Order: sequence, then structure tokens, then C-alpha cells
Amino acid sequence: MKEKELKEGEWIHLVDSKDRVYSLVLKKGARFQFSGQFLNHDDLIGREEGRKVVFSGGKELIVLRPTYGEYVLQMPRGAQIIYPKDTGQILLLADIFTGARVLEAGIGSGSLSLALLRSLGPEGTLISYEIREDFARRAILNIEQFLGARPDNLILKSQDIYEAIPDLDLDRIVLDVPEPWRAVPHAKSALRSGGIFLSYLPTILQVSQLVECLRREKGFGFIHVSESFVRDWNVNGLSVRPEHRMVAHTAFLTVARRLVI
Ligand code: SAH
Repeated sequence: MKEKELKEGEWIHLVDSKDRVYSLVLKKGARFQFSGQFLNHDDLIGREEGRKVVFSGGKELIVLRPTYGEYVLQMPRGAQIIYPKDTGQILLLADIFTGARVLEAGIGSGSLSLALLRSLGPEGTLISYEIREDFARRAILNIEQFLGARPDNLILKSQDIYEAIPDLDLDRIVLDVPEPWRAVPHAKSALRSGGIFLSYLPTILQVSQLVECLRREKGFGFIHVSESFVRDWNVNGLSVRPEHRMVAHTAFLTVARRLVI
């Protein structure tokens, strides 16, 4: 459980009246500058989140610990992240449960990894394959910053998933790589019967290639493809309508069940 008071080393958000977010890591003796005004980190350390803080010139911002969805949008990126709208769907469609043994590739910036770690819990295991050492380093820093420490149940491997999946008896495999069909034969051996394979792909031609491959390979069934849209609404007096802008496309999710029939 998080302590009530903010402490040194925590990543926090300051939010202004237009919902603009400024992120910082609390450090004793440090100063945060905003529009020519400043705030001492010491004035935040030991205080509760969800409160207004006043800058030297009188400007007021709200201090909050970010939610998972807020954090991943602000954290430094190596690779492009999976956005919270898709992460939510992935957790459900891949049926990530407490105690699950999950493999993901690649770790990228660690956005999906954080969500997987939360869902599979301390009794579960997350094995992450990544071919780029620089991305892996960044991802681990991002994960440590959000969780406070590197979790023991995260196993990072410098492994090309197109080459092989040496880990066996997996409950779930979640892929965010450009050519997932190259990993399908390995996934077939690595997933336990009844296990779930999920792939995140930005274009439908990739999806088509993957689905054909899953069918050809045999050993997979209940193949399902979906995409999701989130449309935000403006609710203000008589102006009750959808927002004018939305994210129209991120990716398609392809799910398949490992069957031995
Ligand atoms: N899901 C991540 C983003 C992953 S981006 C997130 O939410 O932050 C795709 C990642 O896959 C990149 O880091 C890339 O280096 C890695 N990758 C690409 N091909 C791979 C392969 N064959 N095996 C393992 N990792 C691979």
C-alpha cells in the first residue's frame, strides 16, 4: 500500500487548471520552475497528494501521484508504447490472471510490462524478451520508477523471439513485434494447452498474415481479431457532446487459443 505522504524519489504530477501535466521526481533541496515561478520539492515531501500547491508567485497547481495510465504517457520512451486504451483490452482478451506465467516481446519502454506485472501479481512471472539493450535499460528504469523497485518476478532476457522461445509451460504470450508470425511455431511449443496467444499489430495486412499463419500451423483455435475506440465526451452545461478529436487508430489485437486436438 502507498503511504499517505509523498516521499523523496517518488515520481509525481503537478496539474494546472487546463489539465496540463508536469512531471517530476521528488528530491530534497531541489526546485521546480514553472512560468518563472518556483516551488521547493521540500514543500511537497511529507505532504498528501490531491492537494493544491502554491508557487513563489502565487500560481496554484494540484499535486498527484500518477495513475498507471497517466504515468505511461509521461515516462521517457525508447520504443513507442502501447496506449492505456489497448492495454485494458489486452489484459482482458489475454485473460491475464493473478499467478499467471506470461511471456511478452519486446519490452520496449515497459508500458505493457507494468500493466502485466500488476495483473499477474507477486505470485505470477513475467518473462520479457528484448533485442535492444538500450530499450531494455530504459524499460527497467521506467518500471523501477513506478513500482519503487525492480520486481523479482520480472525476468528480462536478451532473446530474439523469431529465433526461439526457450521458456516452456507458458500460460500467456503477448507480442508487440512487427512480424509475430515468425514466432508462431515457437509459441506453439512454449504455450501450455489452453494457453492464450495475443498479438498487437498496427496494420491489417500484418493481421492477415498472422491469422493465415496461425491457421496453417494448426494447434491454435478460436482466433479472434478486434480493435477498440474510445470517444471522450465534453459535458459542460448545454454542451453535452463527443469531443471533436479522438485517436482513430492505434492497433488491432489478434487472439488465439492453444489447442491440442
Ligand atoms: N509493448 C512495449 C513496446 C514494444 S515496441 C511498450 O508498451 O512499451 C517493440 C519492441 O520489440 C522494441 O523494443 C523492439 O526492439 C522489440 N523487438 C522487435 N523485434 C523483436 C524480436 N524479434 N524479439 C524480441 N524483441 C523484439
